[in-house]
Amino acid sequence: MEYMDQYTKFMLQAQELIDNCRCSGTEADMAIMYADIIHFQLVNNFFGYTEGDRFLEACLDMLSTLPGTELCSRVFSDHFLRLVRLEKGTDIAARTKDSERRIKEFLAQEASFHPNCRVELACGYCTVEKGAESLIQAIDDANLARKEAKSMGTTAVVWFDNAIRRKIKERKDMEMALESALENREFIFFLQPKVCLSTGRIVGAEALARWRKKDGAILYPDSFIPILERNGSIGKLDFLIYRRVCEYLRDRLDRGLRVVPVSVNMSRINIYQGGFAGRLHEIAQEYRLPPSLLEFEITETVLLYDFDGVEQAMDELRSYGYQISIDDYGSGYTGINIWKNTNFDILKLDKSLLSEDLSSLTRNDALITSIAYIGKMRQIVLLCEGIETLEQCRHMKELGLETGQGYYFSRPLPVREFDRLLDSGDGSYPAKWLNGAGKNPLVRPVEDMEKTQLDHFYRQIYDSVDCAIIQYQEDLYRPGTYHCISLNRYAALLYGFESQEEALADGGVDIVNDYILREDVEAHMDQFLSLNHAGDSVTLDFRIHRKDGEIRSLTGGVKIIINQEGQKIFLGVLMDKTGPEEVAKLRDRLKTVMENTPGDVVVLKVKGHTLHSQYLTTGLARTFGYPSNDFSKIV
Ligand code: C2E
Ligand code: MG
Ligand code: MG
Repeated sequence: MEYMDQYTKFMLQAQELIDNCRCSGTEADMAIMYADIIHFQLVNNFFGYTEGDRFLEACLDMLSTLPGTELCSRVFSDHFLRLVRLEKGTDIAARTKDSERRIKEFLAQEASFHPNCRVELACGYCTVEKGAESLIQAIDDANLARKEAKSMGTTAVVWFDNAIRRKIKERKDMEMALESALENREFIFFLQPKVCLSTGRIVGAEALARWRKKDGAILYPDSFIPILERNGSIGKLDFLIYRRVCEYLRDRLDRGLRVVPVSVNMSRINIYQGGFAGRLHEIAQEYRLPPSLLEFEITETVLLYDFDGVEQAMDELRSYGYQISIDDYGSGYTGINIWKNTNFDILKLDKSLLSEDLSSLTRNDALITSIAYIGKMRQIVLLCEGIETLEQCRHMKELGLETGQGYYFSRPLPVREFDRLLDSGDGSYPAKWLNGAGKNPLVRPVEDMEKTQLDHFYRQIYDSVDCAIIQYQEDLYRPGTYHCISLNRYAALLYGFESQEEALADGGVDIVNDYILREDVEAHMDQFLSLNHAGDSVTLDFRIHRKDGEIRSLTGGVKIIINQEGQKIFLGVLMDKTGPEEVAKLRDRLKTVMENTPGDVVVLKVKGHTLHSQYLTTGLARTFGYPSNDFSKIV
């Protein structure tokens, strides 16, 4: 048999059924239903093709059993066509309601096979008029009604009527108006400040597109972005806004004014196109802009499709030095996937994670702290979008978020107003949210989690080296007493402890006076007292008596790693001195460990009479209260 696709087969059979119905002289009407599944790709992505295929079969079965079905077929992908017989006097409204209810029940049952996919069914109906081309026309119009149903974002059944026809015409008119607006560069951008939650300082801005019509009216993105996305012109808008942002930054730089990094929203269409990163880079170079001033926002849903290409583009942009942020995180479906394969710099938590009323403000706390925790481990700056109140701001700061954006600080502003804000005073907001910030007893502050993580990290490294590493701390009330606060496995073995915990019990053994031979303590006291500042170190040879009484000769170094308000914490790296060649090897190892002991790094550049930081570790930036991307004027 000659191959015939499902669509053609459906057309032929449907036409025959319609003709028969007309010939039989009944007064029944025929209608076409066009249906497709919303978010079907999620089922495939997350539950595999086997589940996808099974679900498509189940949908077909369900649609076939809806009342009045004459013929039903899956014509391609997740699209279905159904021919329906409407007996004379059928109550269309009641029939529509009934179908909607049956479909919803079906989807609710199915949800257990692919949980969290939020799958819906969009259905459009149109009656088949009399006449030769009527079936094709009915399918087209049912399809338009289906699109209308789909735009509702939930399961819906829509009949094609004049209102839809009018809506479609309006949309077409709008599309044409938008095309010429793009040609005439009628789009501008507003800037919304991003604020450092530790200092109140404006550390960046987001460029948001606005349509400035010829009559001066300003239109917001919700009135044009969905249309541009649908007809593919959104890419043009993104590049237009991006160019304008580059022009803006160049102008401020030329006038010697302060600039902050500006982020530009990039739509899916662009990112999927080859050469995307290169094009953006070329434009920035044309305006002689350092990449650190530009950031690209992409929504997490971009990552649902075509993973490879998107990640390549993101990696390429980052390799040039641009920042990538994930927009609206928490509003879509990527969930944890994003952490597995994607490299980015900033995570923008969606405003839907914030609650308006105080009582439920803490509802997502555990979720947000966990995200903040992962973010910090991955050195990603966390920004909270849509902060509208002081309480929300205070709360987000407490949960460990570093940057905020929202009406509480400012609405998106015309560029000139934003500049005024940046240039007035020191370009900061008074950080009222820092006053009286109480600890929320229900959540573990992210700093604590971070500390635990760091401790864990160092412990793993320390436990894997074959020399003793001991951290100890001078007793504030009994100077000259040194409590052991951490030690690695090798140290516990060397000193003869049963376990590491034994050395730490009761506030920690006095690792100096109780173990080092008295005469050796006295002999080295001067050297020891010369240690005053963080980083000071000495090399020592001394003997200890182990817990079992055995005497061992050790060699090693002692270094102050923290000296804060008189509280000194020392790090000792020690080895058992067995033979001369062993000692040479050990000294070498000692040097490596001492040099690689964590500390903060900052690179400074002299400009006129001021020092500007060019690079600093994130830890140090945080100590100063800056998110890691704001390097200016730290000194
Ligand atoms: P977005 O990128 O998530 O931008 C944030 C949106 O939230 C902005 O809406 C902003 O005005 C709004 N917003 C900021 N603070 C608050 C707040 O405290 N409360 C509330 N309720 N809303 C707040 P806007 O300007 O209407 O933009 C809407 C969306 O349009 C943007 O969401 C972005 O996805 C898109 N968009 C804007 N400009 C462009 C563009 O040039 N290209 C592309 N592709 N998309 C754009
Ligand atoms: Mg955005
Ligand atoms: Mg956003």
